[in-house]
Amino acid sequence: MAYKAEYIWIDGTLPTAKLRSKTKILADGAEPGIWGFDGSSTNQAEGHASDCVLQPVFSCPDPIRGGDDILVLCEVLNIDLTPHETNTRAELREVAERFAAQESLFGIEQEYTFFKGYRPLGFPETGFPAPQGGYYCGVGADEIFGRDIVEAHMDNCLKAGIGLSGINAEVMPGQWEFQVGPLSPLEVSDHLWIARWLLYRTAEDFGVSATLDPKPAPGDWNGAGAHTNFSTKRMRESYDAIIAACESLGEGDKPLQHVKNYGAGVEDRLTGAHETAPWDTFSYGVSDRGASVRIPWQVEQDGKGYIEDRRPNANVDPYVVTRLMVDTVCTALEK
Ligand code: ADP
Ligand code: MN
Ligand code: MN
Ligand code: MN
Ligand code: MN
Repeated sequence: MAYKAEYIWIDGTLPTAKLRSKTKILADGAEPGIWGFDGSSTNQAEGHASDCVLQPVFSCPDPIRGGDDILVLCEVLNIDLTPHETNTRAELREVAERFAAQESLFGIEQEYTFFKGYRPLGFPETGFPAPQGGYYCGVGADEIFGRDIVEAHMDNCLKAGIGLSGINAEVMPGQWEFQVGPLSPLEVSDHLWIARWLLYRTAEDFGVSATLDPKPAPGDWNGAGAHTNFSTKRMRESYDAIIAACESLGEGDKPLQHVKNYGAGVEDRLTGAHETAPWDTFSYGVSDRGASVRIPWQVEQDGKGYIEDRRPNANVDPYVVTRLMVDTVCTALEK
């Protein structure tokens, strides 16, 4: 019997790329091959030369359709099969390959916010909910909004084989987090993009949208980030390597180079308030949730482990943040 392959790709929407997908019916036993799309409708081509190419790079069971159906994550190529300018995965491939011997691992904490119409889920139609305090990891209908969607999304990720490591309710009502990893740079990024697609797709059936907007509610409400936890083999073995990694992220123009690629609107979230460090000042510290980079207390205790870069926005491209961290830290640790 024929089966369905949902081809998923990242478009050229500015300032933050969006996911797109469409379905290909494949004959029983056929492999998902290259395909194409109209790049003039996704900000990836001009109308007079609109064809772009989809190159399958990662596939997994489709938990929504079930059966033999699959999800197929693609890289976007030009018609000469070179990487399209919006294809950030291609750049990560090269850097990950170059530093493969250091065995980088990432765990990314994806925060997001549900919206019902124009308001975050749980916000009353007029005015505001009770101030932040009770919502984080809360329980009960006065504190929790959208748990049925979160549970359905978690089950869908597990059925798809995504390397999910947990979920939790966040500080602002309607705001949640899931974590992917620890996995290699390419794996964590591919899994995170599929998990994001599954989030939108799962919530769609509940009449709810999910957004990665880094500051979804103005005022005294937490923003949404994508804390990026990182280690190399040496960092998993020695505290000197942990400190060297933190130092490398603070050197020269590195802080600015990283921050400006950590998601559109990062300055609006990294204000110094709401558990953030100001975007223009680099710092690191043990247990410090007001630092740019946190060394978890357990890591200091054990004298080895990983570091948490707290700066990336929820809307960061995981192919970009993992490439920058591998490049900066692995170059320093190689010496
Ligand atoms: P937080 O206390 O900041 O909320 P979380 O529990 O949400 O932390 O996320 C921690 C993340 O760190 C998880 O995604 C986990 O997979 C990841 N992690 C754990 N060990 C490592 C490691 N050695 N290298 C990289 N990431 C790791
Ligand atoms: Mn058509
Ligand atoms: Mn977390
Ligand atoms: Mn969080
Ligand atoms: Mn965190």
